Amino acid sequence: MNIIQAPTSVRTTLDALRAEGKSIGFVPTMGFLHEGHASLIRAARESCDVVVVSIFVNPLQFGQGEDLDRYPRDDRRDEALCEREGVDLVFRPPVEAMYGSGPRFVIDVGAIGDVMCGRSRPGHFNGVATVVAKLFNIIGPCRAFFGEKDAQQLVILRRLATAFDFPVDVVGLPTIREEDGLAMSSRNAYLSAEERRSALVISRAILAARDLVSSGERDTTRIVAAVMSTIEAEATADIDYVVCVDPETLLDLERIEKEALLAVAVKFPSARLIDNVKLQV
Ligand code: AMP
Repeated sequence: MNIIQAPTSVRTTLDALRAEGKSIGFVPTMGFLHEGHASLIRAARESCDVVVVSIFVNPLQFGQGEDLDRYPRDDRRDEALCEREGVDLVFRPPVEAMYGSGPRFVIDVGAIGDVMCGRSRPGHFNGVATVVAKLFNIIGPCRAFFGEKDAQQLVILRRLATAFDFPVDVVGLPTIREEDGLAMSSRNAYLSAEERRSALVISRAILAARDLVSSGERDTTRIVAAVMSTIEAEATADIDYVVCVDPETLLDLERIEKEALLAVAVKFPSARLIDNVKLQV
């Protein structure tokens, strides 16, 4: 497994492989890898000749007062996971290599970046879109793999690929959960034992919404209210948002006609967690 820091070296290494006709699959991450990341790597391994994982904690997507400085890192463990999953190349650029000196260009994703997580994280999705565009240009994948756990990110990155004609197939894959239902996340490492227990309320609440829909409920106001009251019962949980939106436009739905995305963000004293489920009629 090749571990490369310099964008130019990555490009020349992958140019040579492309010249041999090899397809490149790409999994962008911020490291501190878990089974969710591994599931994306496996999907890339299954459908592409060469698998590239990037590990980059992107300062551009963190706001003032967010967790950029304490974001969990473990290079050796990440390398071991990548090795084990058959990754060919790990791209781990230093911040200066991605954002050298000079004027900073940022992609503006527009209004879709202002809803849901964008409300409490202004500019976050502009930072995500910018780094992913740069990574697409450096790596030149034909397929890139993202988790549905970050549903808004996935919608925005599909739009990014279309808007900028990136010749890349954006693939979304299901959320991997702990056995007790908690969606895996690098940020789960922040949780105390008590918070970890409380955090279970999130998956419990959104999965219960599925049952509501199965039993005939279509009114999103009632579904959102039910999810909120379940989460609010947990004393340390502070709801950032609970929404029921169109999965493509992320606009609020009044009723579920066919399919909806129920998405939540909840703040605990040491971490803000997100999760979502698709609700189908
Ligand atoms: P991150 O390192 O948190 O930026 O995530 C990198 C990629 O892994 C993103 O596409 C995430 O959506 C995806 N991911 C994170 N957690 C999970 C999970 N529990 N299941 C599936 N994919 C995930």
